[in-house]
Amino acid sequence: LIRFERVVKRFGDNVVLRELDFNVEAGERVTLIGPSGSGKTTILRLLMTLETVNGGVIWVNGDPLSHMRKGERLVPANERHQRQVRRKIGMVFQQFNLFPNMSVRRNITEAPVHSLGVSREEADQRAEELLEMVGLGDKIDEHPTRLSGGQQQRVAIARALAMRPEILLLDEVTSALDPELVAGVLDVLREIARTTDITMLAVTHEMGFARDVSHRVLMFDEGQIVEEGPPEQIFGEPREERTRSFLHAVL
Ligand code: ATP
Repeated sequence: LIRFERVVKRFGDNVVLRELDFNVEAGERVTLIGPSGSGKTTILRLLMTLETVNGGVIWVNGDPLSHMRKGERLVPANERHQRQVRRKIGMVFQQFNLFPNMSVRRNITEAPVHSLGVSREEADQRAEELLEMVGLGDKIDEHPTRLSGGQQQRVAIARALAMRPEILLLDEVTSALDPELVAGVLDVLREIARTTDITMLAVTHEMGFARDVSHRVLMFDEGQIVEEGPPEQIFGEPREERTRSFLHAVL
């Protein structure tokens, strides 16, 4: 479903990703771990087309993210194409990013109504179902500012799922939360992992969560994958010294 092929990303002289290669299959749940600054968030932002590559190609569903098909030819993507790609992908950020001046309901229904053309009724019904799922059925008419951080983040998850994305990107979704609110958010994500076949790509510092939900863990350092494997291997018997020292420092 997703393929990074020799992807290079630089910010000025800072080479953040160096000819990075990896794949994510449809339905697979992959977590990215590694030290701060190793390029994990950048990978998610590239997929969301919030950043552009300096080299290599990112493929989603067999199409390059940066280009679109015009007959037999590939031409640089325009805004419309990028919006279409983004629609397949839902992203939840560290800082919830809810619209503060809209109710929870509007936060969840705006995008389906305006970009997918779903009717208000249908969008409302879906919002209710999703809020039930994240344990906030009674908060639909609240304003986000009246919710705790953990509740806001659960609304953000519901909002991402309202677009029925094929891929869910999670960028350190619990790092801005008070410790007592982390478990509630992770439980919601565990439940989504258990009950849906959505493809998940998560950057996380929550190693217990990574162990529980992932099919595969990628350990990053300096813009490259140092080691990858099933969680039992990465957490149980890491092969690389770099992985061992990282896990030793965070666990
Ligand atoms: P963290 O866990 O701290 O978020 P990370 O592994 O997700 O780390 P990235 O956020 O991808 O790392 O950042 C990788 C490098 O890219 C860092 O050195 C960072 O300073 C740099 N970087 C990221 N975004 C930008 C930007 N917009 N402009 C300049 N440099 C950036």
